[in-house]
Order: sequence, then C-alpha cells, then structure tokens
Amino acid sequence: LRGVVALDGPSGTGKSTVSRKLAAALGATYLDTGAMYRAVTLAVLRAQVEPSDEVEVVRVVRAAELTMGTDPERPGVLLDGQDVGQEIRGPEVTRAVSAVSAVAEVRDQLVALQRELIGRALREPGGIVVEGRDIGTVVVPDAGLKVYLTASSTARAERRTAQDVSEGRAGDLDRTHADVQRRDALDSGRKVAPLRKADDALELDTTDLDVAGVLEQLHKHVES
Ligand code: C5P
Repeated sequence: LRGVVALDGPSGTGKSTVSRKLAAALGATYLDTGAMYRAVTLAVLRAQVEPSDEVEVVRVVRAAELTMGTDPERPGVLLDGQDVGQEIRGPEVTRAVSAVSAVAEVRDQLVALQRELIGRALREPGGIVVEGRDIGTVVVPDAGLKVYLTASSTARAERRTAQDVSEGRAGDLDRTHADVQRRDALDSGRKVAPLRKADDALELDTTDLDVAGVLEQLHKHVES
C-alpha cells in the first residue's frame, strides 16, 4: 500500500517522535496505535476490572468509544468524548497495557478500527504514518515502507525517563528500565501478534542516532 509508512519497535526507540516528525515533513497524517491500546486500558482501570479478567476486559473495551486525532502536530485521543492524552501516559496504564493488549478480541477490535482510520486517511492526499508493534506484520503488511526501530534497553530507558521528566512526570531510571524490559518480554512473548520485525522491514538501530539522524535515514528510504 503506497501512502502508508509502518513504524514498529519496542518502547523508547524514539518511534513516536520520529513518526510525528516524519508525518509532518511528508504532509501525512499520523496514527499512534499505542495510544489506542493505552486508552482502552484506561477504560478497563476506570471500570475497576482486573486486566487479567479477559471476559470483563473484552466487555469494557467493546463499550469504549475511541476517537483518534491524526494531526501529527496535535495527535489526540478521546475516550468516551473525554481527552485522555495525559492520563494514558501515567504509570497505572503503563503497568496494565501489556495484559490488555494481549487479549485477542481486544486486538481484533482495535485492528479493525486502525484499518478503517488508515483507509479514510488514504482517500486524502499525503498518506499516513502509523506507529505501533504489529503494523508491518498484521495491520498493514503491504505498507509502502516498513521500518523496525531498535535500541539498547539502557538507551530506551534513558529516553523514556527524559520524556517523563520533560512532560512533568516523575523520572525514575531504574524503575523505567525494569518496566521497559518487562514490557519487551510481555509484548514479544504473547501469543497474538507478538512484537517482531516483519521480514521485509528495514531495521534501524537508534542507540547511537539522534532524532535528526533517524529522520535522515527514513527520508532516504521514503524517497527511494
Ligand atoms: O507505544 P506505546 O508504549 O504507547 O504502547 C503501549 C503498549 O501498547 C505496548 O507496550 C503494547 O503492549 C501495546 N501495543 C500493541 N500493539 C500496538 C501498539 C501498542 O500491543 N500496535
């Protein structure tokens, strides 16, 4: 699918920053699928349902109404009409999101919504940059460009901590490192749509690259 750039990889690889900047530079829209899994996880927590209770999780997620903003300058997420952009980045959601996103019915529902949003974006000029864990493998396997970003877990934990501090949350490097490793294991080890590089994705190790360096590489491949 020309017009779709799929960016996958674990947390802290700079995926969100790079995806938004790439979309803005291309005049494309942007879809943050992690924000969708986070928002339905918030719905689960608000309903006081245990993330391990699959039947109840599916019930809550079915009833949740998600509205995704696809402007790379101001991507927003509404849950049942309320802006939850801040709350979905908090530690409670971060702790619970891997369990919720491992439920097959949750993924089916969100993947269907993602494909609908991508289809809508492709009817406009400019294309769309989609970031997540399974975009190149499951959501849009025929995307025009598929990229898999990696970085050492130490570098990723440092970036996540810096991001937390810059967005006004408490920064705790050791806890963040442990969380990054725990989520890697859960996201890569789950039965449905495990995190992995698509065979035909371009792999980019960002450990020693800054955002401008990653963007430079991506622009070369978008243009080629
Ligand atoms: O990218 P972000 O850290 O916001 O993603 C939060 C979580 O959502 C991931 O740890 C993963 O469990 C889940 N996720 C997923 N599939 C996606 C995007 C995110 O399972 N496409």
